Amino acid sequence: MTMIILEKVRDIRGYLDNSAFKDKLIGLVPTMGALHEGHLSLVDIAASQSDIVIISIFVNPNQFNDPNDLKNYPRDIQKDLELLKNKKVDVVFIPTVSEIYPQTDTRVFDFDEIERVMEGAHRPGHFNGVAQVVSRLFEITTPDLAFFGQKDYQQLLIIKALVKKLGLSTKIISCPIVREKNGLAMSSRNQLLSEKERDHASKISATLFKAKELKNKNSVSELKKWVISELNKDPLLNVEYFEIADGENLVPIENWEPEKTSLGFIAVKLGKVRLIDNIIFD
Ligand code: AMP
Repeated sequence: MTMIILEKVRDIRGYLDNSAFKDKLIGLVPTMGALHEGHLSLVDIAASQSDIVIISIFVNPNQFNDPNDLKNYPRDIQKDLELLKNKKVDVVFIPTVSEIYPQTDTRVFDFDEIERVMEGAHRPGHFNGVAQVVSRLFEITTPDLAFFGQKDYQQLLIIKALVKKLGLSTKIISCPIVREKNGLAMSSRNQLLSEKERDHASKISATLFKAKELKNKNSVSELKKWVISELNKDPLLNVEYFEIADGENLVPIENWEPEKTSLGFIAVKLGKVRLIDNIIFD
């Protein structure tokens, strides 16, 4: 099947309401474009599990707490379409803001503790905007499966909570982090870094990998201090937070608890660019 590009809600509904698709599994990959191998890995996983693959490209203004971040967010639809040409994608959905939000979206979601830590604490309103756009995309595309990256681990938990809250049957599939050769977690925002800054940015993942090795020789608080001081030694890097938390509910842990999956979560500022990453300890 050839890949089609749709911009209107009514067109994608017209496409999906075709009776030939009645029993087909719809897989959705929501993105904000400026695609890279991380996004493409989600598309591949979606293609292996769904009959119809939809990728959405929409820079959602409601999830940006910093207007400059929204203004500078990389956009290159032509390149995105070029990258998708060789993939098993049926529909590229590229809506305008007024298609997604015909009226101002005033819904307020409450995700309890998981939205009050880390990204939730440092980016006020961010996850509410994520919930608004994802619920709209789910309403429009009615996916059986939706694919999200572990790179945004906290977002993944928010989406799972959202699906529960709305009583949807969409299954959320969590996909592994794809990294550059130097270990840097792939991100659209990496495009905003100079060659030199990318080099420095690779210290973030290198330090997380090293922390995993050091885990058994250190307490949680020692390891946290070590990661922060190690990265802040680099004058270009500024750690916003490094937290070690329970992967189920994101509650910070104070002692290693072997029966729980613990992860390390980090946000680092590099000049004007803010990068996040995480690592599974157990
Ligand atoms: P974004 O375009 O940044 O909103 O990301 C769209 C989707 O791709 C989200 O589910 C992200 O978690 C996922 N994603 C972004 N970067 C990566 C990566 N390096 N590895 C795996 N998934 C990713």
